[in-house]
Amino acid sequence: MAAHESVGRPWRLTPVQRLWLASIGLLLAACGLWAGVVRLLPAYATPQLPWWSVVPLFFAADRWPLTVNVRRGTPALGMAAAPLVIGLFYMTPIDVLAAYAIGVVLSSLLRRPLGLPQALFAIAQFVVLAGLTEIVFHAFPMATDDFRWAAWLAAASAVGVLVVGNTAAMIVFDHYDDRLRWRALSGKIGYAVGGAVASGCFGLIAVEFIHFTVSGLVVEGVLAAILLAAYRVYVAEHQERLALEFLHGAGDALGSRELESAIVQLLGRARTMFSSEMAQLTIFPSAPGEKAFRTTVRENQPDQVMDALDLAQLDDVLEAERDGVIIDKHKSAPATSEMLARRGITEAMVALLRGETRLLGALLVGGHVDSRAFDARDLQLFQTLAIQTSTTLENGRLERSIARLTELQEQLTHQAFHDSLTDLANRTLFGDRIDHALMRAARVNRSVAVLFIDVDDFKGVNDTLGHGAGDALLVGIAERLRASLRRPDTAARLGGDEFAVLLEDVADASEAEIVARRIYDNLREPFDVNGQTVNARVSIGVAVSDGDADSASILMRHADVAMYSAKAGGKDRYIVFAPGMETDIVSRHKLRADLELALAADQFVVHYQPVVDLLNGDIVALEALVRWRHPQRGLVPPVEFVPMAEESGLILPLGDFVLRTACNTLLRLQGRYPRPEPLAMAVNISARQLQQPLFVENVLTAITESGILPGSVVLELTESILLEDTAHIVKLESLRRHGIRIAVDDFGTGYSSLSYLRSLPVDTLKIAKPFVDDLGAEQGNGDFARAIVGLGAALRLNLIAEGIEQASQVSQLRELGCTLGQGFYLSHPVGVEEIEALLQGGGIDRSLLDVDGESRLEQVIPLRVHR
Ligand code: C2E
Ligand code: MG
Ligand code: MG
Repeated sequence: MAAHESVGRPWRLTPVQRLWLASIGLLLAACGLWAGVVRLLPAYATPQLPWWSVVPLFFAADRWPLTVNVRRGTPALGMAAAPLVIGLFYMTPIDVLAAYAIGVVLSSLLRRPLGLPQALFAIAQFVVLAGLTEIVFHAFPMATDDFRWAAWLAAASAVGVLVVGNTAAMIVFDHYDDRLRWRALSGKIGYAVGGAVASGCFGLIAVEFIHFTVSGLVVEGVLAAILLAAYRVYVAEHQERLALEFLHGAGDALGSRELESAIVQLLGRARTMFSSEMAQLTIFPSAPGEKAFRTTVRENQPDQVMDALDLAQLDDVLEAERDGVIIDKHKSAPATSEMLARRGITEAMVALLRGETRLLGALLVGGHVDSRAFDARDLQLFQTLAIQTSTTLENGRLERSIARLTELQEQLTHQAFHDSLTDLANRTLFGDRIDHALMRAARVNRSVAVLFIDVDDFKGVNDTLGHGAGDALLVGIAERLRASLRRPDTAARLGGDEFAVLLEDVADASEAEIVARRIYDNLREPFDVNGQTVNARVSIGVAVSDGDADSASILMRHADVAMYSAKAGGKDRYIVFAPGMETDIVSRHKLRADLELALAADQFVVHYQPVVDLLNGDIVALEALVRWRHPQRGLVPPVEFVPMAEESGLILPLGDFVLRTACNTLLRLQGRYPRPEPLAMAVNISARQLQQPLFVENVLTAITESGILPGSVVLELTESILLEDTAHIVKLESLRRHGIRIAVDDFGTGYSSLSYLRSLPVDTLKIAKPFVDDLGAEQGNGDFARAIVGLGAALRLNLIAEGIEQASQVSQLRELGCTLGQGFYLSHPVGVEEIEALLQGGGIDRSLLDVDGESRLEQVIPLRVHR
């Protein structure tokens, strides 16, 4: 506390430093006063008394100070006013000082001495006040040994100086430790003033008796003794009442509702009663394995309520084996001193709380701000309090409360190590388990495996079915994970849709792979999520420990890397970690960052590949294909970055850019090359774009803002996207209602059933390149292409052949009845200027189509279906 203060406010003195300063200042003033003036002042009247005659009075004044507040041992001058007044009249100032010094030294031999700065302050205070008193007294114009009004007035003024000075000193002394206690102080000022005035009066009476009848002194002494005795009886009674009130209040506090607040109240009262810095109650465990609980109430600090402790921390037992004892840093065994030091106090009272069958706990009250030590009366009161506390704790409340606290404690520990949704282990516990498993495995020469399991496209579930369903799916996955494991293995949820499994004691990677397979299969079974069937797919990374350099973090990183490459490899699979994978990941991270920069730096461009009418070379449409104009690598094809853009979500802004660029280009081209049936534009759409809740709105906005007609736009989607989720169909239908057309890209490479195709809202099938390749190949027979064309005709869909690379493919396609095509043979995807050149020339070079004579061209019956 003091350390903190001096750090925070370096210019502030500590309380003790301030007291030192005040004492030294007072002493200097005293020296000046005495050396300059007081030393020379004579005794006022005869008979001159010897210095030792008032020593007993000074002794008594110091030994039994007249103050009710037992704990505040302020060095009040109180009763010292009587000998001082006597000294004013019948002694030289030096003799008074000597008598005071001897009296105080004798008295401190019998009580606990003050600390050095406190003692210094008390002495300096007396010397200054005594000096001032003498000066004021002798300042009155009066003849020596002249007992008339002037003398009595002088004496009264001297007593007044004493009272004021005494009060001022008390305020300084009481506040040197910077704790404002105005209420306690005001009461004390009353006592001190009263005491000083009373004893001053006694002094004056004594002076009178000495002057007129010395024998009358005896009468006065007896009178004073009776009054003092009466006062002490009153004080004792008062203290008794305070103690009774305290015990009664403590009983009330303990009887209150909650055990915790009862204890805090009790400790607060005890702290006030004993003027102690702290009060502490420790409750011992009632059964093995339970914790102890400690409540501490400290001055100027927040209460610490029922802190759980281990048995090793129970130092209260040390000295408390007796039913209440006062312990002191200087007089106790080292262990006890340490126990006090841990609490930042030097002195305390400790008691054990005894139940009928066992020890319930310990009560401690310790540290006080003033010089008084705990005395026998304090201890007696404290013991009574301890017994009272034990009885209240004994009647069952304690057990119940402890049971509840222990339960709470266990819950908290459990929560700290488990995921709240699934109740699986969390990352902290998981890491810990791996470390332990690794240690065990190393001893028996076996391995440990870690599996990282990530739910593929979990975001889609959350977005389409809601977060409630997402949570239900996670809980379902957690249950299946638990069910797939042996007893010693651990399943964990690391966050979001990421799970992990620890397999203890595996022989090698292949054994771990078997478990991975089992988990993978179990998770593929459909989930029932709030009445809906959800097919979850997961990517699993497997890492197996293989040496002593293993740690939880390495194993987890390897599993993470493996899982990442499972994702990168197309998700829905499990992969065992291999050393090369990490560099892959690094370059993937870099790619991701580079893509973001590229988008910001406008490094993406759109190329266009013509869709050509195979009968006459007309360009009926263009397909927009994105490229990355990389400052070092040149033009980068989409295969190298579109998958990453999809994974990172960057495909959303990128796709938007392509769509808008394509629409703007189309508007320009349509304006420059008007035709009866206007040029169309095909744009590729990825799954991630389609999943956007506002996909339809976004597409329509882009198209409307560009100014082209929706009927000129074709969206290309792969079969797998269309099959993935029936929720998409609604979106596509709404787009089609606006006139936008839908094409199935790379048709034939997926596995769509024909009946399903019928129900899809599509206009065009794009025959995938492998089937077109088949047409040109020597062994190929074109059966697939023929089947697709037949299917398209039956469903009245447009057909476009993709990837035409040879003249022979053109003629075969025409024979089959597919009259639209794309391919390097006709035109590579090119920049917009080259497209303009082609359009200017009225389409592609016709000689490319004139593959087997002009005559053939005319015989072909076009098989173009318009819906
Ligand atoms: P896709 O939609 O099937 O596009 C056709 C791809 O085949 C293009 O590759 C094109 O250059 C290539 N191609 C055309 N004719 C031939 C040929 O005769 N022989 C060969 N070997 N290839 C030919 P590209 O431009 O590399 O695009 C690859 C894929 O990247 C596209 O396949 C599409 O799925 C995707 N993609 C391209 N641009 C975008 C885009 O803006 N958004 C999205 N989501 N995907 C895009
Ligand atoms: Mg395409
Ligand atoms: Mg394609």
